[in-house]
Amino acid sequence: MDQQRRLVDRFGRVHNNLRISVTDRCNIRCFYCMPAEDVQFLPKQQLLTFEEIERVVRIGVTLGIDRLRLTGGEPLVRRDLPLLVSALSQIPGIADIGLTTNGMLLSELAQPLRQAGLRRLNISLDALDPEVFRRVTRRDGYEQVLAGIEAARKAGFSPIKLNAVSVRGLTEDQIEPFGHLARDTDTVVRFIEFMPLDADSQWQRDRVLTAAEILQRLEHAFGPLRPVAAEGGQVASDGKAPAEDYEFVDGRGRIGLIASVSQPFCASCNRFRVTADGRLRNCLFSHEETDIRELLRGGAEDAVIAQAMLDCIAAKGEGHEINTSRFLQPLRPMYAIGG
Ligand code: SAM
Ligand code: SF4
Repeated sequence: MDQQRRLVDRFGRVHNNLRISVTDRCNIRCFYCMPAEDVQFLPKQQLLTFEEIERVVRIGVTLGIDRLRLTGGEPLVRRDLPLLVSALSQIPGIADIGLTTNGMLLSELAQPLRQAGLRRLNISLDALDPEVFRRVTRRDGYEQVLAGIEAARKAGFSPIKLNAVSVRGLTEDQIEPFGHLARDTDTVVRFIEFMPLDADSQWQRDRVLTAAEILQRLEHAFGPLRPVAAEGGQVASDGKAPAEDYEFVDGRGRIGLIASVSQPFCASCNRFRVTADGRLRNCLFSHEETDIRELLRGGAEDAVIAQAMLDCIAAKGEGHEINTSRFLQPLRPMYAIGG
């Protein structure tokens, strides 16, 4: 590949990982992501079509993109999603496709997604207590998610990876039960710190249950955990994956900690994003976007769209600045960006 045509920013970070939001719609209303009521969703014609998404990916591949993750909103509410997975998995150069889902529709879709070529699935579940689940999501659906997880297991996704956002004053009591789940079943639980991406700008630093505190609570309950070493003795997260993985000292069970706020991993970030309405974003917390839908629909050649991607990455800032007084929450909440 032509080294000049890679997605490298001013800080030398090489971007090979594209996160694609396929919709801003969702069937639940997590308080840290969406408003409770009256959400204004994008009209259908404003969403990138599957053909447009495929084209974006093909162009991205020429610039070094080889990993994709589909997200949203809730990606499974996008009609015919397995068709998109199938099309993307056949693009030469794409080594890996993942999907993040709230699990509500997995009972019907786990098998078709697997058949379409999906191999990596993350299911978001913040609580093992149905009442806490309801407080977080502002909807019923706990049993539905559990059924979805079971369907994913049956479809062959292994291990099951759960994402659990941790929020002080709400989910402390869920940490130990998740520890048991990680130890007793084929499940990796990844705890994520609460980030300032909620729709109501209610995020407060003191509601961030930090990775260090989560680790402390787990160690109090289960004894020491140790960072998981990959072959060659390095920590398993490859320095680019945000999760630091740990295993319980007896080797039974594994958890991940994603310390996005308390220990930002911006220095090794390899991701960029395209929103459901076709805006490139070089960071979750970015205040600038590049409209590639206009280019896609306006007859732009591939080279022009490639240049827009290169420019977007070239403009990437050093880090998210949450821990500085300069920080300003982005206008788009998480559901409208794509987590
Ligand atoms: N609807 C899908 C889901 O919930 O898995 C995919 C989209 S969701 C925006 C992607 C991930 O972002 C989920 O794991 C969710 O918990 C996480 N997330 C959303 N808002 C967040 C926030 N403010 N802080 C930390 N994680 C957040
Ligand atoms: Fe929906 Fe996912 Fe946002 Fe929850 S985190 S409201 S499931 S998009």
